[in-house]
Amino acid sequence: MTKNCSLAETGELLKAAKKLVIVSHVSPDGDTLGSSLALMHALRMLGKEVIMNVDDDISTVYSFLPGIAEYRRFAPDESVDADLLVIVDASSADRAGNALEVVKSPAVLNIDHHKTNTQFADYLYLDSDAAATAEIIYSLLLEMGIKLTRDIATCIYEGIYTDTGSFKYSNTTSNTLKTAADLLKYGVNPSLISDNMELKSRSQVEMLRKVLETLTFLKDGKIAYIEIPLELYDHNVETDAFISYPRYVEGVEIALLFKQVEENLTRVSFRSKEIDVAKIALSFGGGGHKKAAGCSIYAPLKEAEKVILEAVGELFV
Ligand code: 5GP
Ligand code: MN
Repeated sequence: MTKNCSLAETGELLKAAKKLVIVSHVSPDGDTLGSSLALMHALRMLGKEVIMNVDDDISTVYSFLPGIAEYRRFAPDESVDADLLVIVDASSADRAGNALEVVKSPAVLNIDHHKTNTQFADYLYLDSDAAATAEIIYSLLLEMGIKLTRDIATCIYEGIYTDTGSFKYSNTTSNTLKTAADLLKYGVNPSLISDNMELKSRSQVEMLRKVLETLTFLKDGKIAYIEIPLELYDHNVETDAFISYPRYVEGVEIALLFKQVEENLTRVSFRSKEIDVAKIALSFGGGGHKKAAGCSIYAPLKEAEKVILEAVGELFV
């Protein structure tokens, strides 16, 4: 049974622990990394021992984040003791990678903003109105009476920047912008963040050229998708932003990106104008938000495309 916590209860749980493991979700993005790092800096200021974990590679795009070098990946046979295991911005247990097996902790706390949260932890702080988990972390640290530093503020700003698509998606609220405005008072440099996030490697742009050739429209242009087959896939090349190309084509209601990351594993990203794609992702074991969601299909690219496009196509009959 999961106990849904208030912000104050969440703060008390964190304060009561001496040794914590903070886990960011697999396929890490700026929100899970920024939120987790902000929490790490704050808890270390309180004298806590904090171990950082993510069961995946971290894109070099995030190298500028203060504290990013603290992350380590657990070996599957490792055993790590902690008073509290904190899982950040993950809506289901599989998103935590191997941490739930490796870490021996009396309790698991999940801090999240996905409405598809599966209530897998012992304690949950969930606010699905928050644009980013980083927005929650900001309120949490204030609730805990922690004085923000520039490093903490930078990490929180990064999380909000990522999940709002630099303050432009429909999840951006007046609270989001108020939070960002407050963060600037702690010395955040917005152009440092956007310069790092917008910077593209040559290999990324070269891959984009090939990926755009795969752009396909279905259902009178209401569905658009692009694909990255295994031959093209390179885990060192950042492709998160590619989906914005089909997404913003006139008339497109649902955009998809299919990325074959292994012979029998295809990652799917969904974006929509209005239709609830979290529901579709959830029905395939994934999750996310109404207008931005994802899932993994344990099949080769073409097979994954067939099942997903069939399900998405049914929405337009
Ligand atoms: P993206 O398409 O950028 O990978 O993910 C879009 C949103 O869906 C993010 O909020 C992300 O956390 C969520 N998401 C993506 N893939 C999965 C998945 O496999 N499982 C779950 N639960 N959420 C996912
Ligand atoms: Mn998030």
